[in-house]
Amino acid sequence: MSTDQKIDAASLPVTFIRGVGESLASTLKKLGIVTIEDLLFHFPISYQDRTELNKIAELTPDKEFVIRGSVEKVSQTFVPRKMMLVKVKDNTGHIFLRFFYYFPGLRNIFKEGANLQISGTSRLGRYGLETIHPEYEVISSDEFVPQILPKYRLTKGITHQKIRKIVAAATDMIENHKISVCDYLPANNLENLSESIVNIHSPNPTDKIEDYLIGGQSPYRKRIGLEEVVANKISYLSIKHQNKNKPAEIFNEINLANKIESSLPFSLTTDQTSAYEEIHRDIASGSPMLRLLQGDVGSGKTIVAALIASSIVSSGKQVAVLAPTTILAKQHFNNFSEWFGDSCDIDLLTSKIPAKERRTKLENIKEGRTKIIIGTHAVFQKDVEYNSLSLVIYDEQHRFGVTQRLKLKEKAEEYPHQLLLSATPIPRTMAMSVLSGLDISTIKSLPPNRKPIVTTELSNQRRDALINRIKSAISSGSQVYWVCPLIEESESALIGIEDLEKILKDEFVADDYKILHGKMSDKEKGEILESFKNKETKILLATTVIEVGIDVPDANIIVIENSERFGLAQLHQLRGRVGRGSKESYCILMHDDSLSELSQKRLKIICESNDGFHIAEEDLKLRGPGDILGLSQTGLPSFTFYDLISNDEVQNEANRIADEIIQLPIEEQRKIIERWFPAHLELSDV
Ligand code: ADP
Ligand code: MG
Repeated sequence: MSTDQKIDAASLPVTFIRGVGESLASTLKKLGIVTIEDLLFHFPISYQDRTELNKIAELTPDKEFVIRGSVEKVSQTFVPRKMMLVKVKDNTGHIFLRFFYYFPGLRNIFKEGANLQISGTSRLGRYGLETIHPEYEVISSDEFVPQILPKYRLTKGITHQKIRKIVAAATDMIENHKISVCDYLPANNLENLSESIVNIHSPNPTDKIEDYLIGGQSPYRKRIGLEEVVANKISYLSIKHQNKNKPAEIFNEINLANKIESSLPFSLTTDQTSAYEEIHRDIASGSPMLRLLQGDVGSGKTIVAALIASSIVSSGKQVAVLAPTTILAKQHFNNFSEWFGDSCDIDLLTSKIPAKERRTKLENIKEGRTKIIIGTHAVFQKDVEYNSLSLVIYDEQHRFGVTQRLKLKEKAEEYPHQLLLSATPIPRTMAMSVLSGLDISTIKSLPPNRKPIVTTELSNQRRDALINRIKSAISSGSQVYWVCPLIEESESALIGIEDLEKILKDEFVADDYKILHGKMSDKEKGEILESFKNKETKILLATTVIEVGIDVPDANIIVIENSERFGLAQLHQLRGRVGRGSKESYCILMHDDSLSELSQKRLKIICESNDGFHIAEEDLKLRGPGDILGLSQTGLPSFTFYDLISNDEVQNEANRIADEIIQLPIEEQRKIIERWFPAHLELSDV
């Protein structure tokens, strides 16, 4: 086939691949994958090393392995939960495979005497070495085939096996010259793009695996990484370029801001004041603002945003405040209502409002009576029409993922000012290279009344000590957040909210604790939170829904289960739920009895520092090859190849290319942003 017959991968839906039907396509969509190009650009986050066959006797806990062995014994239990246990041996020893979720047919594969190749991660279980939900295949040849297998970001409904298969189908199409991928980097002598894509998905097993990991030397990796860095730069630079020539309304009224400030029960910190002044200069400048206000948890970003909003409403225009959760939206609503008093109409707009009430609210927004509209992404729903939307404030901006495209375009008349709030501090050096073009204000210090939170770590073995401590704390008036990670099917070894509930049931009076989780209705959540706020409930058992912004000043203890499974930024955010009142506050990090060296180091950082910026820096230093834990929570755009951002050589090369692309027509610039950071388009799409 000649080259001009190749079809652009960006124009083909994933359903073009054999075996991908509508239902799989909708699962893939959750990962941001719609076209075959999207699939090809869904790069591995790490690899599984199956280049060497291991012997069972040589396995140690917490290692990835691949073994070959025969099934010695299979047993099933139904209490306490359904489970299948398979004992597999080779000529050096044995290991147990544990399955919690399995289809009945699995019993036919794991027959006594069957020869299998198993790969997974080892752990120390009750009966010795075991592995949970390993991958397996029936051995078809005596010869072991070394492989380096890609590991991808997944979502519910798709397995590694499945996604590997369809990605392989797509890379085959490139290799057979059926499809092509457009190279957006101007004339260059870089590694060929298509070849790089193919090799990153399926490295040659004789290559060194390190070369494909973070910081790796593979030219393919460098090629793709460079494009990602360029795309990121373009995404901000192009907004800046566009904004320069756009008119925006000028807001310089400050009487209301002064009035609000003087009625606060506290005075603003120096950092808050200077952040306010910087932002105010932007909205008075005549060009659309796009600014990030970053500051540690509890640093007081909300009041700064509110003071800015007051300038807008003083001129009779509207402000939308977008929060990631209903709980948080309500909290903002209460705060804003208190601060603004009766000086303007404020309303709360979430997705679960009775139709009639909603109609009234929408009417008021459309007529311009409501000046400040606070809500979840419901504030951008189709039927919401604004009268004069001039400022949009996004709280915890990084939580608005690619899938929650914000439809600001149809909402605002002209070019609204945009303010992004983020509690995940980004170290300065990194901010300059990664967020080039975005204006940033920083609140570094916390309000003076804050006491540092005392953080300790405790192994699960010492749970008794923890329970005693909590009992005595609540009897002397303390309130406690008790947090579990959300558990995915394959991670049944972790302590989930149900397991924890069982523990608490035996140890505490039923009225002492309540459970809050993501699946509850907003009404239920609100009631539970209310009873925690007014101290009827002493312990709030929660999944990470509480992470974002909740403010209950009297709660002074937080326990975090499986803390080794959280990213440092997220732990720091969670910890920020306490330390808001006058009492001494504590954070207790529960963890597995045996911790890897890296986990120990990470927990140590959190225990020793209360400074979000310091933690963020240390966190980045610790991220060695292949370690992506918590990256999506850092607030940085989630780079697949982010190692390159610290590399000067690549930075310079990327700057050079970006300068060229920025001269191209805007449609050309959009293409590369669309490929890598579609969410960023929403910020400029106005
Ligand atoms: P975040 O920056 O994490 O969003 P908030 O805006 O929720 O923090 O502020 C946390 C708490 O600190 C709120 O209760 C707020 O009223 C209070 N606060 C804000 N600024 C100050 C200040 N300068 N002095 C004392 N308390 C403050
Ligand atoms: Mg906040």
